[in-house]
Amino acid sequence: MNLQELENIAAKCELCNLYKGRNKAVFAKGNPEANMMICGMCPGPDENRMGSPFVGKAGEILDALIYNAFGTRDYSNVYITNLVKCFVPPGQKLEEVWMCNCLPYFMIQLGIVNPRTIITLGKDVSNFLLDSTDSVGSMRNRTHRYAGSKIIVTYHPSYLARGGGVNHKDFGKVVQDFQKAGVE
Ligand code: URA
Repeated sequence: MNLQELENIAAKCELCNLYKGRNKAVFAKGNPEANMMICGMCPGPDENRMGSPFVGKAGEILDALIYNAFGTRDYSNVYITNLVKCFVPPGQKLEEVWMCNCLPYFMIQLGIVNPRTIITLGKDVSNFLLDSTDSVGSMRNRTHRYAGSKIIVTYHPSYLARGGGVNHKDFGKVVQDFQKAGVE
């Protein structure tokens, strides 16, 4: 199976009730040949409308992080996705069944892209993949492994957005985490 075939299957997925609220399943953007995968939790309203990950406010900040870390405004060195492919309305409590049903899509993506490093954005996806309840603050200073890739845990761009975006006190830490992922 290739990524396009997987995306086509995800686009029609009805394994959980999230399909009822989606406009389009949001699969990925960037370079499938990249050494680095960036993984968020789930698409928001902008992503659901556009069918692409990180195109709203969080996407603006992610773009700034990529630019500050790697000096590029394109996605040639990163492959960007979410664990959950369907829209979750903002403020909704995440249900484990959504993540469990989407995990096979993520795992097949991971197997095909085979990145050296996965940057997990925020506590929810980091805790789920690493079977942990630790804070981002404590996880980001440790090295983790997942299915043959290294995981670098860092803060979610939405967290940065709530405290000034590129002026957030932790913006520089996330840039450093991205750079660390780039040389792993
Ligand atoms: N937040 C995410 O985790 N993913 C997106 O695609 C957008 C916002």
